[in-house]
Amino acid sequence: MNKALITNIQKYSLHDGPGIRTTVFLKGCPLKCIWCHNPENQSYHKQMMYNKEKCNLCGGCQRKCSIGAIHIKTENIDVDSEKCNFCENCTEFCINNAREIVGQEYTTSELMKEIEKDKIFYEQSGGGVTFSGGEAMHQIDFLHEIARKCKTKGISVAIDTCGQVSFQHFEKLLEDVDIFLYDLKLMNSQEHKKYTGVPNEVILDNLKELSKKGAKIYLRLPLIEGINTDNENINAIVKFIKNLNIVHINLLPYHEIGSDKYKRLNMKYEYALMKKPSDERLQEIKTLFEKNNFKVKIGG
Ligand code: SF4
Ligand code: SF4
Repeated sequence: MNKALITNIQKYSLHDGPGIRTTVFLKGCPLKCIWCHNPENQSYHKQMMYNKEKCNLCGGCQRKCSIGAIHIKTENIDVDSEKCNFCENCTEFCINNAREIVGQEYTTSELMKEIEKDKIFYEQSGGGVTFSGGEAMHQIDFLHEIARKCKTKGISVAIDTCGQVSFQHFEKLLEDVDIFLYDLKLMNSQEHKKYTGVPNEVILDNLKELSKKGAKIYLRLPLIEGINTDNENINAIVKFIKNLNIVHINLLPYHEIGSDKYKRLNMKYEYALMKKPSDERLQEIKTLFEKNNFKVKIGG
């Protein structure tokens, strides 16, 4: 039976496709977008999150760690990620909840049980389940199996994708997936690489191919002032998608929710480079897409 590393199962979500949804976040992503608000989903491996604000340096976790992976410093605590085997002794001990392990293994049967608990809400609202991440398709065998199980049970499936995967993965899922939530960021490949870590050719090619296959595509555009809201990028997106089969566009203005997680994962967050676009600019961008006959919504 296939297993996947999952960071969160979010119930009653209203932003990841139509209706009421359960959104499942799978760990690991080929992109490292600097604005990512789920940085715990970037690494393909389990990680330890440490919240310095909640920690009183009692030293209990260090005593509980039988393999000596925890080192207490004057103001914080280091965990040797090479040594840590994620036994959970320290997280269970810490009454302040200063530690959290991100990434838990699920089989498809275990996950199905969670998904099916809210079937009534999906049916009443026209919702379903959305597999997000990270890049959910990175764990393709698991995703294929769970999407098939959902389909068999009459549960609608959406996949939220960055597009940076082999097109064979899309082909494998076409039969069982109802909607692809496809993220597009920057049309200039060098700029794309600068801010996400990879060039954009595979992503653009896959979007064209997916459109040709007649898949239902909701395009999602994260909009970050200072990075991708300029006319050049927006016009290039309009030109690129003009003849594609896009059902709907969601404009997703940048926000700083999630920036605290960077500190807890000991990752750097580039506050200075990013801003939320003004309401006027968002409206201008929305109007531009609408003039080109796209259905557009600001927000998820
Ligand atoms: S047990 Fe919790 S509060 Fe105590 S030192 Fe460890 S992380 Fe900090
Ligand atoms: S999870 Fe286990 S091995 Fe890792 S730091 Fe905590 S007690 Fe040590």
